[in-house]
Amino acid sequence: MAVPDPADACLAAPFGMPVELLPNLYLVRVPLPHNPLRALNSYLILSKDRTTIVDVGFNHPACEEALGQALAALGRTWDGVEIVLTHSHPDHTGNLDRIYRDGMPVFANLHSFQEVENLQDMEARVFGPLLLKAATPHQSGLGFGKGKPTLHVSAELLPLKNQPAVTFLHEGDVLRAGPYAFEVLETPGHDPWHLCLYEPSRRILLAGDHVLERITPSIASWFPAYNALEEFLASLGKVSNLDVERVLPGHGAVFGDLRGRALHLISHHEERLQEIYDLVAEGHGDVVSISSHAKWRYDNWRSWPLDQKFFSMGETMAHLVYLVCEGKLKQTICGDEYRFELP
Ligand SMILES: [Zn+2]
Ligand SMILES: [Zn+2]
Repeated sequence: MAVPDPADACLAAPFGMPVELLPNLYLVRVPLPHNPLRALNSYLILSKDRTTIVDVGFNHPACEEALGQALAALGRTWDGVEIVLTHSHPDHTGNLDRIYRDGMPVFANLHSFQEVENLQDMEARVFGPLLLKAATPHQSGLGFGKGKPTLHVSAELLPLKNQPAVTFLHEGDVLRAGPYAFEVLETPGHDPWHLCLYEPSRRILLAGDHVLERITPSIASWFPAYNALEEFLASLGKVSNLDVERVLPGHGAVFGDLRGRALHLISHHEERLQEIYDLVAEGHGDVVSISSHAKWRYDNWRSWPLDQKFFSMGETMAHLVYLVCEGKLKQTICGDEYRFELP
C-alpha cells in the first residue's frame, strides 16, 4: 500500500511542529537563521522511555526553542533524549552546546569532535592564504588568529565549544529507536564523518546531507591526502542501489527517487570535472583563477561575499584534487602557492 506523501506538509510546517511521517517517527523543521538553507530537518523517534533526535541545528536560541517545542508537543522532555548526528557540520551539531545534559548519549561516526577540529586546522593553512588572494580590497570578514588568516563567520556557524563524549557508530551497526532498526551506512564525502541510517523493512533512508532533493551537497577538500569527491562518488554508488521508498533528508522535501537523484549528482560532478580540467588545459593554473572562471549559479565571482568564495574554492579544489589523484593533473606547491597544470 502506498503511503501518502507528506512532503508538502513537511515543507509548510511551522518551525518546531512535529509532522508524523511514520508511526513514532516525526520530522521537525528547525530554523537556520541568516542561512540560505533556511531550515534543518530534525527527526524525532519515540521509544517507550527514550526520544531519539537525529540532528539538532545551529548553536542558536531559535534552534533550541524549536526542539523544545517539538518535545513538549509530543509529551516528552529532555530527560531520556539521545542524539544521533549524521555528520559534523554546525547546522546539524552546533545546538549540542545548548541542549546537552550530563549523561545524554550522543552517537556519531566520529570518535571525538577533536578529529573535526584537527582537520579544520590543517585545512585553514591552505584556504587562509587563498582567501587573502580571493578577497577584493573592500571585502572584510577576514580575521587573523594564531598568526594565520581565518574566515570570520557568525557565532552560530562556529564548531562546538564543548565536546560531548560521543559513542562511535560503525558501518553495519544497528541503531534501534522506536519500532525501527536502522543500519548504519558510512557515507563520507560531504563530510568525512557522514553516515546514513537505513531501515530496510520500512524502506526509509535518513540521508543527512548525503543526498538532498534539489540542493547539490557541497564537497570540499583542500589537499590530495583527502580526496573528498572520490569518497562522495563512492558513497553515492553505495546508496543508489538500496531498496528505498522514501528518503528523509537533512534539508528540503522528503522524496522518493533515491537512485535517480544519486545518478544525477554523479553526472553533475563528472561534468564539473571535465569543466575544471578544461580550465586548467586553457592555462588557468591557480585556484582563484579557476574558481572565478568556472560556471556558477551567480555570475561575477569576484564581487561575491568572501564566504561564498570560500565554499566555491573548496568545491573547485575538491575537483582539482580528484583530477590530481587520478593522474590527470599535476599539482605543484611552493610556499602558499598552489599551481595546477597538465602532466
Ligand atoms: Zn552538511
Ligand atoms: Zn546541512
